[in-house]
Amino acid sequence: MNAMADEAGGDVLDEAWFAARACAGVRGLKAYDPGHDLVAFRRRFAGSAGGHPLVELGSNENPYGPSDAARAAILDQLQAIHRYPDPLGGDLKRALAARHGVAPERILLGNGSHELLMLLGQVFAGPGLDVVFARHAFAVFALATQAAGARMRIAEPLPRDAAMPLGHDLDALAAAITADTRLLYVANPNNPTGTWFGADALAAFLARVPREVIVVVDEAYAEMADAPDYASALGLLDAHPNVVVTRTFSKAYGLAGLRCGYLIGASGLVAVMERLRESFNVNGLALAACEAALGDEAHLRSACARNAEQRDGLSRALRERGLDVFPSQTNFVLVGFGRDAAPIERALTDRGVILRPMGGYGLPDCLRISVGNPDENRRLLAALDEVLA
Ligand SMILES: *Cc1c(COP(=O)(O)O)cnc(C)c1O
Repeated sequence: MNAMADEAGGDVLDEAWFAARACAGVRGLKAYDPGHDLVAFRRRFAGSAGGHPLVELGSNENPYGPSDAARAAILDQLQAIHRYPDPLGGDLKRALAARHGVAPERILLGNGSHELLMLLGQVFAGPGLDVVFARHAFAVFALATQAAGARMRIAEPLPRDAAMPLGHDLDALAAAITADTRLLYVANPNNPTGTWFGADALAAFLARVPREVIVVVDEAYAEMADAPDYASALGLLDAHPNVVVTRTFSKAYGLAGLRCGYLIGASGLVAVMERLRESFNVNGLALAACEAALGDEAHLRSACARNAEQRDGLSRALRERGLDVFPSQTNFVLVGFGRDAAPIERALTDRGVILRPMGGYGLPDCLRISVGNPDENRRLLAALDEVLA
């Protein structure tokens, strides 16, 4: 038995002991890496000159925050906080249904889309089955697969010198499908690369995927994508009932702290997933705020327009510094430094600039930089100039 003494001198069973008793999928799993301990950083930097000098560009949050209507809805909802939230999320589902032109029965709400991506794995994957996704795709795809005890079948991305560097190679993804494949995850646009694929490529790809494979198109950044060739997979759902689209209120809507996402798919798929959903997975403040946020189109459009403008400016400024900036349709850019980026990242952290290191994604020469507001982007560039000098 692996026992170690705890502070009080008693015996505790350690992680290895419990891992040996966990189900097969969990035994080999590594917990999701959220990047830095931001709370600790905020404390560390709160005391320095200027009060709160941290520039937080590590988690792709919306620097402009949510609609005022969402904040007001939260305050209003506070008087009902002793009540359980609506387990059906009916009002929010109806608002989403109206927005997307689908029946409410085709929508499933989640505690962030992270929960829904995990739930998809739990419901449709399992031991002996394959799940397909791309290298350098969203980390949760691997977590969901492993947690379900399924096999990961990882498709290589487009080469780094392609027009869409490290973007999803849809041919490679289609070729990775086996007779045991039940689930395939793609993100469009993708995190951490920021890359995207076009509407025609998506339609051609879906036509090649057998119906037995549930295709999850993670569209966490869809509201921000404005490339002429980009299109959501929502328009293809009727032709392909095996396709599911996930969306989130965490990014363009500026509500990451509330934890709310949703998926749209066939009503039968939603009904099966409902069997495993926790009854109160989305809290009452989130339900109210997201419904209000949906009603404020002007705020959404303004945040996306400001993001696009800042993203273009930041990309240009980084390229002027000789860095390799990947094309992006999101609110972040992947940046290649041509050498190990870890020392650069550490030096930026010491200056209060938080970015996302990419070693865990197999891209140790890169950093992922969220697009901030004009002030944050200026401070990032100033710190970077110091570090690179
Ligand atoms: C941020 C992100 C999510 C969303 O996460 P939530 O759990 O909804 O906050 C999902 N997919 C991708 C690719 C992301 O980058």
